[in-house]
Amino acid sequence: DLVRPRRALLSVSDKTGLEDLARSLSERGVELVSTGGTARAMRDAGLEVRDVSEITGFPEMMDGRVKTLHPMVHGGLLALRDDDSHAAAMEEHGIGAIDILVVNLYPFEAAVAGGADYATAIENIDIGGPAMIRAGAKNHAYVAVVTDVEDYDALLAELDANHGQTSYAFRQKLALTAYARTGAYDAAVSGWMADALGETAPRRRVFAGTLAQTLRYGENPHQSAAFYVDGAARPGVATAEQLQGKELSYNNINDTDAAFELVSEFGGDAPACAIIKHANPCGVATGKTLAEAYRRAFDCDRTSAFGGIVALNRTLDWETAEAITEIFTEVVIAPDADPAAREIFANKKNLRLLLTGGLADPKSGGLTFRQVSGGFLVQDRDTGSVARNDLKVATKHAPSEAEMGDLMMAWTVAKHVKSNAIVYVKDGATVGIGAGQMSRVDSTRIAARKSQDMAEALGLSEPLTKGAAVASDAFFPFADGLLAAAEAGATAIIQPGGAMRDDEVTAAADEAGLAMVLTSMRHFRH
Ligand code: 5GP
Repeated sequence: DLVRPRRALLSVSDKTGLEDLARSLSERGVELVSTGGTARAMRDAGLEVRDVSEITGFPEMMDGRVKTLHPMVHGGLLALRDDDSHAAAMEEHGIGAIDILVVNLYPFEAAVAGGADYATAIENIDIGGPAMIRAGAKNHAYVAVVTDVEDYDALLAELDANHGQTSYAFRQKLALTAYARTGAYDAAVSGWMADALGETAPRRRVFAGTLAQTLRYGENPHQSAAFYVDGAARPGVATAEQLQGKELSYNNINDTDAAFELVSEFGGDAPACAIIKHANPCGVATGKTLAEAYRRAFDCDRTSAFGGIVALNRTLDWETAEAITEIFTEVVIAPDADPAAREIFANKKNLRLLLTGGLADPKSGGLTFRQVSGGFLVQDRDTGSVARNDLKVATKHAPSEAEMGDLMMAWTVAKHVKSNAIVYVKDGATVGIGAGQMSRVDSTRIAARKSQDMAEALGLSEPLTKGAAVASDAFFPFADGLLAAAEAGATAIIQPGGAMRDDEVTAAADEAGLAMVLTSMRHFRH
């Protein structure tokens, strides 16, 4: 099973680590063969290299579209060394075996992410590279295929551990990585074409990612799990820098994402904070300062906030850091943290601090996926939003200016609460959130009851929902949910409208003296 490599073909767009690898292979007696730019880089480093064109007897041509696509190369990659007829063909045509293949592809993904036009993107589709990778990986019985700069050291370590040879198990693992790479590459090309052609539902669709982290376990300890990233340069949980604390868990990543996406809705205007538990917010608030925003978010539901995930829309400062460390918090995610805040957190070893360098753009497109048995559900991200001017006042009286601000906030938060979602907001802070109930009226009642409990805990005589604005993520099918909100003291309501019994619901709102505005857009989230 051990193969002693005599010849390596190196053809790489990303030349990181090339010189060291090539020199180390050369020192181990491996002959180096290479394509134009890669050969030049190695010669510049003083290494002896053979040009692929010398082996194929053909010049590289057509702007590099045809370099390695030749039987002298593919025969050397695909031949079964121990098969008589294969060996005879090699002998007859003078084909030399290629035992190590090092390829990384034209940077198609980076070109597209950098805004390449159609023609440039097309030129960045690598043909010869994937062909060689697939050939070498198929023949992993003999060939070691390295497609990831991060595997260069592993290759050298493998050679050293086996007296200059590679083992079958090692080559198998490389082949697995290699096919994942060509698969992801073609997924990127196909996905780009779908976007370029405006095809929202192409007949075939592939999704691919790169392992960022193997997780200790999944949602539960008996499930194994991993985190794959898509390489998008979006500020968020996938790209954030973790300053301290142990590795994020599966649930942490999910909740931190929910928290940061929600707080990013507030942009940079006013300081804002969102606290998340089990992917739902248990408190969201704005404030004059970030610390005030945190405290007000915390006051929505102090019980649930324990062990929560805190997201902030601006640089974490010392005062906010102090306030957060008063209770047990799992994760804090923010665009940045100032030195004083970092110092305060440094004493809390278990608290994870993630810095994103900016806010997510709630308007940026993309897809979301959900797995069902036998398939995937794919949809656009929910980038829908309504402006004040889009709202239709349905009731006799319109909301006041203050109510309007709270309605808009309640609506924004409701978008991030699992359906059925009911969100009460007063003076820029949530005061009651009802999430994930099977009936809307239950969500309304639960939110009010939690708010009542909180008021009692804070020693207040009135429920926090008194005078609040309330949002419902989808229409009220009956008047009962709306009446429950009115009973809790809400004075203004925002909801999509469009129910069969809209007239009944509006009449009930008028009778209860509520102001109600309609968005004509709903925000289901399941
Ligand atoms: P170099 O910098 O050595 O000139 O080019 C290296 C790149 O060329 C690698 O990314 C490799 O995948 C790619 N490549 C190698 N052979 C071919 C080929 O025949 N056609 C195309 N389009 N790309 C190739």
